[in-house]
Amino acid sequence: MESPMHSKRKIIKMSPRKPVYEGKAKQLFEGPEPGTLIQHFKDDATAFNNVKKGTINGKGVLNNRISEYLMLRLQDMGIPTHFIRTLNMREQLIKAVQIVPLEIIIRNYAAGSFAKRFGVVEGKALGHPLIEYCYKNDALGDPFVTEEHIFAFGWASPQEMDEIRMYAFRINDFLSGLFMGVGIRLVDFKLEFGRLQENDREQIILADEISPDNCRLWDAKTGHKLDKDRFRQDLGNIEDAYREVARRLGVLPQSDKAEGSYVIQVNAKAPKSKKSKAKAKTTAKKRK
Ligand code: 5GP
Repeated sequence: MESPMHSKRKIIKMSPRKPVYEGKAKQLFEGPEPGTLIQHFKDDATAFNNVKKGTINGKGVLNNRISEYLMLRLQDMGIPTHFIRTLNMREQLIKAVQIVPLEIIIRNYAAGSFAKRFGVVEGKALGHPLIEYCYKNDALGDPFVTEEHIFAFGWASPQEMDEIRMYAFRINDFLSGLFMGVGIRLVDFKLEFGRLQENDREQIILADEISPDNCRLWDAKTGHKLDKDRFRQDLGNIEDAYREVARRLGVLPQSDKAEGSYVIQVNAKAPKSKKSKAKAKTTAKKRK
């Protein structure tokens, strides 16, 4: 016979979450309250406009934590962002915004497409931070555009671009210092902004994510790459690089802490004992 407790038990039917958008590295679902979304970080990685595809194990978990940390630090210094709170290892609750269809790129050192376009050696310090804009359109390969294009196509207004530019440089100043504090050079990065409609007022806020997926992060001493270029350029040790960024920021998940700091070990110039040399060799083999 069923106990009184059992007879009272209600079966709560969980309705499947409604997907809203699926991108290359993230997926968006309808949020629990109006005006919110759930941002899910995937392990999928793509490069060269989807030509190269792969999986970086654990990337979603690490990017969720790294992005949460950076968004919160930016909020502390008065930058409005879409981040509300972390929900679980791979998901965060965010404010729903209308995305401005632009990639805002800030560069402190020459690298990537910039180094290629202008025939400059990677790592050359730029006189001052540069801002560039790309039109967010995969089919067109995210072409570089100027403000003239942005206004002519109506992607953003002059007033919105003033705000976006001001935020982007403030974010760069802050993040450059924050990363330098943990021995990382912020070479360049990409930001996305959105329009938030709140109380009859429209506001530009930071959206998307900030992680090794959309930043170039080099070890300040060795120049070792700690970002998605390891995937783009087949450099190996991709997971270790992302984990190292999280470790230095102090947000490495507990379960990862035992893994130690492989990137530092392989780069360290300090003489190694016979025992540690043998250990590094076996670790490297295992990870190939
Ligand atoms: P580049 O123009 O040199 O390829 O990229 C400049 C910076 O913006 C790099 O940090 C790169 O990771 C980021 N970036 C540019 N386009 C994209 C994009 O479509 N997706 C992501 N995740 N990052 C991008």
